[in-house]
Amino acid sequence: MKEFDVVVIGGGPGGYVAAIRAAQLGFSTACIERWIGEDGNPALGGTCLNVGCIPSKALLDSSHHISFLKHEAKEHGINSSGITVDVHKMIKRKSGIVKTLTQGISGLFKKNNIEWLQGSGKLITNTQIEITPIHNKAEAYTVSAENIILATGSVPFNIPPAPVDNDMIVDSTGALKFTGVPRRLGIIGAGVIGLELGSVWSRLGSEVVILEALDEFLPSVDRQIATSAEKILRKQGLEIRLGTKVTGTGSNNREVTVIYEADGEKQQISFDKLIVAVGRKPNTDGLGAEQAGLELDQRGFIIVDENCKTNLENVYAIGDVVRGPMLAHKASEEGVAVAERIAGKPGHINYDVIPWVIYTWPEIAWVGKTEQALKQEGIEYQSGSFPFLASGRARALGTTEGMVKVLSDARTDRILGVHILGPGASELIAEAVVTMEFEGSAEDLARTIHGHPTLSEVVHEAALAVDNRAIHF
Ligand code: FAD
Ligand code: NAD
Repeated sequence: MKEFDVVVIGGGPGGYVAAIRAAQLGFSTACIERWIGEDGNPALGGTCLNVGCIPSKALLDSSHHISFLKHEAKEHGINSSGITVDVHKMIKRKSGIVKTLTQGISGLFKKNNIEWLQGSGKLITNTQIEITPIHNKAEAYTVSAENIILATGSVPFNIPPAPVDNDMIVDSTGALKFTGVPRRLGIIGAGVIGLELGSVWSRLGSEVVILEALDEFLPSVDRQIATSAEKILRKQGLEIRLGTKVTGTGSNNREVTVIYEADGEKQQISFDKLIVAVGRKPNTDGLGAEQAGLELDQRGFIIVDENCKTNLENVYAIGDVVRGPMLAHKASEEGVAVAERIAGKPGHINYDVIPWVIYTWPEIAWVGKTEQALKQEGIEYQSGSFPFLASGRARALGTTEGMVKVLSDARTDRILGVHILGPGASELIAEAVVTMEFEGSAEDLARTIHGHPTLSEVVHEAALAVDNRAIHF
């Protein structure tokens, strides 16, 4: 039986990063991964690289160009009449990016001497894992490990009224490979995936209707930001119907009809395609949790402590399969921290300072507490905000919607939250994350020199505004 210091189950951003860090620290390391890529070959990278972060951003970027050409180019003096979209080529480009990146991980494994065990891993004990090879051509075999890291990720949540058939009704994976632009596209769920994929297909020409169960739009986002974002997205053509309860669907090979309740009335609407994006659930299928005595909570997440330790000695779990936000960077940070803890180092994760980004346009990004959370928790705070409208760079860019809001402690001025709706928010939020990681104050940001003309000046001015001394507004 082969023996390793560390065996990771799952090669997504949690697992592959944990494996690389473990190998860097000198451990003999293996990573078990069963994913089959679009081309039929085994692939590393998990949900994020294969069917999540990367392909969705590739399509968001492609469709953003179209949106620019259709709606903004004229203002720049660019005549873009007669543009056409080759969806096939766009999807092929996306698949090419995915392939390059997943192959890149396999290159990193080789460089770091990490053994990729291609197959499905099942816990036998806290030191033994059985592997069933992907294509079932070879016999199952067992490896032993001094330390095991479980990083089996998550899968889309299904709802009984809208069963995914991968034809008319798809989940996020199916929505990344439509072969044409659906004329009428329905989406169940106005969460991150609904808004991102809704934006993609709406920019490409679909009439998009999003059915959301809750009465409030993006409840975990700062209210001021969420309200502005909702207005902007509606103006762009996303029809968002809040407070709808989907009770059933029916489809023939031409259209899919959704039956739902809203305002106490039964209603129905038909689409060419329907995307179900109502959240994701932890993936422990075939992991052998029960047999090995691994504790899961009621929702199926592997139970871990603050150090990602499970109830089994020397077995850790990280990423989407444990509590906390389902984000790639959170999974990766937990992977690094666990590998370092195994090496006796003080692995560090600051769960209070995890950035969130929704890649609509303008983008929505935030870190720390929202204004509504601060009020609810009775924390006294001060607030400064600054609109992109007053930024020279945003004007040059032609995207002036949105704002930056900085929230800091009323007594100490320590930054408690930063909320951005605007161009490049996904990049701008990094400055806030670094400042908060160093427990910085709004005054620290305000006294830091920002290049001119840049979008980051909007962050600077919002920090100045906390003390009522913004210059340009
Ligand atoms: P995963 O990436 O899910 O990887 C788990 C891996 O484990 C899989 O490859 C699976 O095949 C493998 N596995 C499971 N069980 C076994 C087993 N028994 N044996 C062997 N292998 C096994 N997050 C962001 O931060 N930014 C984004 O922009 C973003 N966009 C997204 C867009 C979409 C459409 C989706 C669906 C998700 C997006 N996410 C994004 C979320 C992100 O993909 C996840 O948070 C991230 O992939 C979690 O990483 P992980 O390593 O925990 O799990
Ligand atoms: P989500 O939790 O963001 O949104 C799901 C939405 O569906 C919620 O608004 C919920 O109220 C609604 N909903 C649930 N059941 C419903 C029903 N029966 N009818 C109508 N609406 C219903 O989940 P998601 O959009 O599926 O994304 C899953 C996770 O993947 C995210 O939480 C996030 O962690 C991750 N993700 C991140 C990014 C990013 O970081 N940019 C992008 C995509 C996905």
